[in-house]
Amino acid sequence: MKKTKIVCTIGPSTNRFEQIVKLLRAGMNVARLNMSHGNLEGHQQTVDNVKKARESLGVPCAIMVDTCGPELRIGNFEFSKVKLEKGKTFTFTTREVVGDESIVTLNYPDLLLIMKPNQKIYANNGLLEFVVKEITKTDIITRVSVGGELSNHKSVSIPRTRLPLPFISEKDEKNIEFAAKNDVEYISASFVNRPEDVVLMRECIKKYGGRQEIISKIESLEGINKLDSIIKVSDGIMVARGDMGTEVAIEHIPQIQKNMIEKCIKESKKVIVATEMLESMIYKRRPTRAETTDVSQAIYDKAGSTMLSGETASGSYPIESALTMSKIASATEKVINYDNEFMSTYKDLHKKVEVIAYSACATARAVGAKAIVCYTDQGKTAEKISKFRPKATIVAITHDNFTYNKLALAWGVVPVLVEKQNTMQDILDFSNKIVKELKLAKKGDEIIVTLGLPLSETVHTNTVKISVVD
Ligand code: PEP
Repeated sequence: MKKTKIVCTIGPSTNRFEQIVKLLRAGMNVARLNMSHGNLEGHQQTVDNVKKARESLGVPCAIMVDTCGPELRIGNFEFSKVKLEKGKTFTFTTREVVGDESIVTLNYPDLLLIMKPNQKIYANNGLLEFVVKEITKTDIITRVSVGGELSNHKSVSIPRTRLPLPFISEKDEKNIEFAAKNDVEYISASFVNRPEDVVLMRECIKKYGGRQEIISKIESLEGINKLDSIIKVSDGIMVARGDMGTEVAIEHIPQIQKNMIEKCIKESKKVIVATEMLESMIYKRRPTRAETTDVSQAIYDKAGSTMLSGETASGSYPIESALTMSKIASATEKVINYDNEFMSTYKDLHKKVEVIAYSACATARAVGAKAIVCYTDQGKTAEKISKFRPKATIVAITHDNFTYNKLALAWGVVPVLVEKQNTMQDILDFSNKIVKELKLAKKGDEIIVTLGLPLSETVHTNTVKISVVD
């Protein structure tokens, strides 16, 4: 059972029910909807399909709504895409035009006030580069300095420039309302630059009666610089390497990624490594050696999850991509000695729930338990146990359907849905049964069970028990 979770972006290649079932079978744990593409009607169908697929297979799967964020996007081209040649003139205009090799709409008039000659503009995650030559009342006229293919609706960024855009646009407010209405488990917030952005998003979720956890996407220099305070107020972080690569020198991304993973684990927050992980699989059945090593490295660093974007959204081999990522995760996890690495870290325990979680992991390690079964309401104990990255599989038994699907994103956690349990003996009996069903333990093996007693009251986990499987 793999510990690292896989986030798959759903798009035209995978939004049908049958494809989602295949992705789940291939190892998808979280279905991500990129709201920068498509419309709410289409996204509604995808959400319905994911819910139907997870129910029909009887497996947990979280749904993540990824906001557009305060970003700039171009309009459409006559034939969906163009090839831009280095040295040619290309205009970004605030006028509504049908795009071609010389012009495209960029409907943000304020940009004309901030841009200056010689400034750079990037498009498509920095793959194309333009240098500003002249600014008129309606147009930014540029020279293509790095050419390539540019398609409809691609993002545009101005490196190291904070645009005076509201963090939550009208469109994103509708996206948040959509997430709340559908009771999805996560919102990944694009372009989080400051902790205040996360606070704003939480208020907006509350306004629509939602209970979504927030994964802050770090993709700007400002976000990187304010990482510690952003982690504190977020439920998790996404290392959004695509846009990040236009803000910082590409050679610094590996260290930034390692630092983000380490900090999130320490703070017991989720951490997703994203973008271009198996990029070549958009067109080919097999990944490159370098991509395979990239995924594997994130798993060695104990990232909670790795993400697929275009590979599963619009690629030619979406199911193969998810399967490949699962295989790399399983193969890498097999050679990591989680027991050895466990004792050397995280001595700094403060909160009671952390000490209990640590005790469960230390006890599991001492007795060689293959499973830590935790009876959890909101999933907090399971997430705390996950923080210590134990060798034992964490089986989170919960009666709450939202928690069940939410925990699909938590590293090393296998969520199991149960009826509300009334006594400690019921929990021990169920634990005994489920570890055998999941083939984690057999008769005579010891397992660890955690729970909060008395069950009749809402108490935090306060009990760690060694139980023998019969
Ligand atoms: C990224 O920029 O790396 C990212 C994950 O964001 P998006 O896919 O929304 O561009």
